[in-house]
Amino acid sequence: MIDPALSTVLSSASDPREVFDRIAVVSLPMVTRFRGITVREAMLLRGPAGWAEFSPFLEYVPAEASRWLLAALEYATNEVPTPLHDTVPVNGTVPACTPAEVPAVVARYDGVSTFKIKVAEHGLDSLPEDLARISAVRDAAPEALLRLDANGKYADLGQGQQALRAFAEFDLQYIEQPVMPVEGLAEIRAWIADEGLPLRIAADESIRKAEDPYRVAALGAADVVIVKVQPLGGVQAALRVVEGTGLPAVVSSALDTSVGLSAGTALAAALPGERLACGLGTSSLFESDVVTSPLRAHGGVLPVGRVAPEDALLTRFRAEPAREEHWRRRLGECWDVLRAEAGC
Ligand SMILES: [Mg+2]
Repeated sequence: MIDPALSTVLSSASDPREVFDRIAVVSLPMVTRFRGITVREAMLLRGPAGWAEFSPFLEYVPAEASRWLLAALEYATNEVPTPLHDTVPVNGTVPACTPAEVPAVVARYDGVSTFKIKVAEHGLDSLPEDLARISAVRDAAPEALLRLDANGKYADLGQGQQALRAFAEFDLQYIEQPVMPVEGLAEIRAWIADEGLPLRIAADESIRKAEDPYRVAALGAADVVIVKVQPLGGVQAALRVVEGTGLPAVVSSALDTSVGLSAGTALAAALPGERLACGLGTSSLFESDVVTSPLRAHGGVLPVGRVAPEDALLTRFRAEPAREEHWRRRLGECWDVLRAEAGC
């Protein structure tokens, strides 16, 4: 459902250029391959309230990508909800590295008090290395809260249970997505309760669309939900789904530039209830960004506020004409999807 204010904007403009006075497409080099890509393409749009990002992944069809445009439309035309905080804590990320590499990874995150540790890279086969890595993080950051992310890599319930039983020895904040199907998460969570294990489950991959969090909550599949502004259709839409589930939420990025990350901070700063460190410290994955000072954590926190890209960087990282054309076409298609949804 589209907000009445945004419906009004959509019905008044058959062409997105009537709403956005500047539109830029950038192609930003990444530090390492991530999600199979080494450059991240993003469209940046300026509206009356400021700059917003529209960067659905390339394989997304207009129906799905239109949620991302709805988020950009909202952020570029509306004021954000009143922030309850002026900074948001972020987590550090420990990749599937060796225990010997852990101290250097942890040391990169000044002031960070929550670490997310990647596990299950090769499913259950990774368990011995995973346990050694968790121990190494615990040694390197004895006071920190630790959470795990399995990215749904345990092949079945039995594998997940075997791993979780081993993980239960550590004092963990939660484990993200041990198995992929949401029904599987629900079964694992019921098993955790039966066994009386001190573990909480977070749903990440299970939440891609606005209706997903309700399904996660209805099935009792998670204790925590991971939410992202763009896929859920904007800051207000994300706030509504979080409220609807009644679960604590962690705001995460969709590999956004600093412009998209700033919308993430707006959501994180407006969330009521339990404050969990966000997964918004992802600008370090970019070799370059659209601002000279990318939205990076200092002292473990990100500032809350809008970000405007710099002209020189928009020029320097401007996408090739054919790619720019592709994104303009995509913008038009998604705009039409939103207008149809708004009844235009
Ligand atoms: Mg995850």
